[in-house]
Amino acid sequence: MTRSELISILSTTDRVQMKELFGQAEAVRDANVGRQVFLRGLIEFSNRCRKNCYYCGIRRGNRQVARYDLTDEAILEAADFAWHNRYGSIVLQSGERQSPRFTQRIARLLEQIKQRTHGGLGITLSCGEQPAEVYREWFEAGAHRYLLRIETTSPALYARLHPDDPLHDFDRRIAALEDLRRIGYLTGTGVMIGLPFQRVEDLADDLLFFHRTQTPMVGMGPYVEHRDTPLYGHRELLLPPRQRLSLALRMVAALRLLMPQINIAATTAMQALHPMGREQAIRAGANVFMPNITPQRVRPGYKLYDNKPCIDENASQCNDCLDFRVRLSGVGIAYDQWGDRTSASPESVARQEL
Ligand code: SAM
Ligand code: SF4
Repeated sequence: MTRSELISILSTTDRVQMKELFGQAEAVRDANVGRQVFLRGLIEFSNRCRKNCYYCGIRRGNRQVARYDLTDEAILEAADFAWHNRYGSIVLQSGERQSPRFTQRIARLLEQIKQRTHGGLGITLSCGEQPAEVYREWFEAGAHRYLLRIETTSPALYARLHPDDPLHDFDRRIAALEDLRRIGYLTGTGVMIGLPFQRVEDLADDLLFFHRTQTPMVGMGPYVEHRDTPLYGHRELLLPPRQRLSLALRMVAALRLLMPQINIAATTAMQALHPMGREQAIRAGANVFMPNITPQRVRPGYKLYDNKPCIDENASQCNDCLDFRVRLSGVGIAYDQWGDRTSASPESVARQEL
């Protein structure tokens, strides 16, 4: 697809055309990655962060947030929950921190999780930008995928969303993605959709970036405002929630048509804009679902944006909801699978050995 074709897809608001687009994207998904979703249990293990991104509710400068760190036991318990419920893989996510102690702690946890699940549980990390040696240490300890959103591929827009200092540098983020790929991670990236100052052309360029870099997985979702952040001051520039969600769904469908075999997540922010937002993303071609398995007691501390869903639920309640939600979307659940096309998945072997 050309840039102008992408722009035209992203700009359409005609209901019939959108229905056709989502139908095509579903058919392409079904034919290429199956009519199913892969599961990644999401563990938001700490909200401590050294950065100050203007859009994020847990940015360092937000003094309203009670900071937390889950204990090793709580993290291992959550990983066990995913394993026993046959999720196939987990995502360990946190704010960005850099210290030898943090690095070693994550490495130790990775080894412990691998040991407890006989290498069966796939592990994705999402802990921001780190030096290449840290990425390598974590890779060797057992992480095989890493999520680092580029947030937007427009350097000018990136600069409006972040403080002007070396900690928030667009080129550094691109270099981090390159480090991850070189070390051997399956790298996921993504963007926020419907940001203030963002143009539909920027979004088309984001899609072309994913294609040009042959990204194996993408997690993208609507930007959702948080009242205690600087970007909230520009909320008058935002599309209304339904239109913003619709734009995000068109991004999902366009990406599926552009990259038929990619893994695309139905992200939580979709559900913040509409109770059925994640189901709609599956109906637009997404194939990854990330049930939240963070212990309920800390969930209110990981409010990236207002109206974040599932704050009052625990992992079991989210698990009960999962089957129902995914079936409503008309697809199956691929239990026990990592869902990586490019890596061997030893999970079924591990289970047989148990
Ligand atoms: N700190 C790591 C990082 O930034 O890569 C990982 C955690 S961070 C909370 C994960 C993602 O949350 C970010 O990449 C960003 O896209 C998303 N996010 C933060 N604030 C958001 C908002 N207000 N609306 C939608 N997504 C948001
Ligand atoms: Fe920190 Fe990530 Fe939020 Fe930026 S988006 S403030 S790095 S948690």
